[in-house]
Amino acid sequence: MNPLVLAGLLWVAQAVALEVKVVLPEQGVDDKLKAFAAKSEALLKEWEPKVAEALGFGAHPGEVHPAAITIIFREMKGVAYWDGKAIHVATQWVASHPEDSGLVVHELVHVLQAYRKVPGWFTEGVADYIRFQLLEQGRFGIRLDLAKMKPRDSYRVTGWFLAQAEAKHPGLIRRLHAAAKQGRDIEQAFTEHCQGRAIDPFWADLAAAAPVKK
Ligand SMILES: [Zn+2]
Repeated sequence: MNPLVLAGLLWVAQAVALEVKVVLPEQGVDDKLKAFAAKSEALLKEWEPKVAEALGFGAHPGEVHPAAITIIFREMKGVAYWDGKAIHVATQWVASHPEDSGLVVHELVHVLQAYRKVPGWFTEGVADYIRFQLLEQGRFGIRLDLAKMKPRDSYRVTGWFLAQAEAKHPGLIRRLHAAAKQGRDIEQAFTEHCQGRAIDPFWADLAAAAPVKK
């Protein structure tokens, strides 16, 4: 290969490679935690470009791919969160849910969202849409009861709802991400993209079409 071409390829590879900094506790690091941390690092590297693609990330002012992401495993309550600088994951959760490394993709979505003044149910719904619809290939792990659930229930329920709406109206997630970045109304953007169908009527359509469970 022409050395200039090779140098160019190496430069491109360097430019897109995400660095992941893993911080483990000083004590009590067992094989389970080590394996979870290694899987988390691999998922973050593999999924950063995929999440960006799903959101249409990079098209809006101020959107620059992170050069590095820090993930801190530590003793804490809860499961995991993004604090604006690092992803924190509870070591107790890892000990009891060693198969749950997909949670880092949910947090990765928050890294790229960086929304201001957007309803929390929407932010969490998009994060779970990407985790469960894209990473886990549609396995949301919830029992759907559309008569009791609501589209703004957040997390997996909203994620599932967004997956149905995206399937019917491709490009919806990117459109909603763009609206969020522009400080526009999410609900209005949803209605515009779905040919005049607002969130609640869209949900009612899904509920009407769902088989009645006895
Ligand atoms: Zn979240």
